[in-house]
Amino acid sequence: MPNELMKISIEVSARHVHLSTADLAALFGANYELTKLKDLSQPGQWAAEEKITVRGPRGELECRVLGPCRPASQVELAKTDCLKLGIEPTLRLSGDHEDTPGCTLIGPQGEIEFKRGVIVAKRHIHLSDAEALERNLKNGDSVTVAVRGERAISFHNVILRTHESFRLNLHLDTDEGNAAWQEVGGGHGEIIP
Ligand SMILES: [Zn+2]
Repeated sequence: MPNELMKISIEVSARHVHLSTADLAALFGANYELTKLKDLSQPGQWAAEEKITVRGPRGELECRVLGPCRPASQVELAKTDCLKLGIEPTLRLSGDHEDTPGCTLIGPQGEIEFKRGVIVAKRHIHLSDAEALERNLKNGDSVTVAVRGERAISFHNVILRTHESFRLNLHLDTDEGNAAWQEVGGGHGEIIP
């Protein structure tokens, strides 16, 4: 297989929160609408101008809100963030909130005791079904991604998530991105099946 097929761009996600419409209203006021700051790599996903405060037993951090709203709110932190906040770092794929910790969410118009849904996202690759097929990969597969450079590093246990709307991209958190010496805006790696 030609190497070009296995090249992948990397996007480093800083801590952020996805909000349900109910939680958005509780934090920002009834019928509040988020303001788009910029589009993200996955079609339809965007960063909002709005930030909220995430409070744990040991501290607080500002957290950007991503849009659009989702059925359930979710806070995605790096392990470093969890340690600062005093929240147990809990590794999960996005959407899996079983046995995950909570926190307090603070917006300009209110606070929420968020019971569960604080995760450290498992590293993952988004790709379309066609991109997966082309590379002989499928949803749920686990691969390694090698990153070259002076701080060359390999990321193992990278889970593939396919959807027709997805676009080939590796998502890392800031701990992982920093370890691989990635700049804001990301770089490139190579998938090793
Ligand atoms: Zn992602």
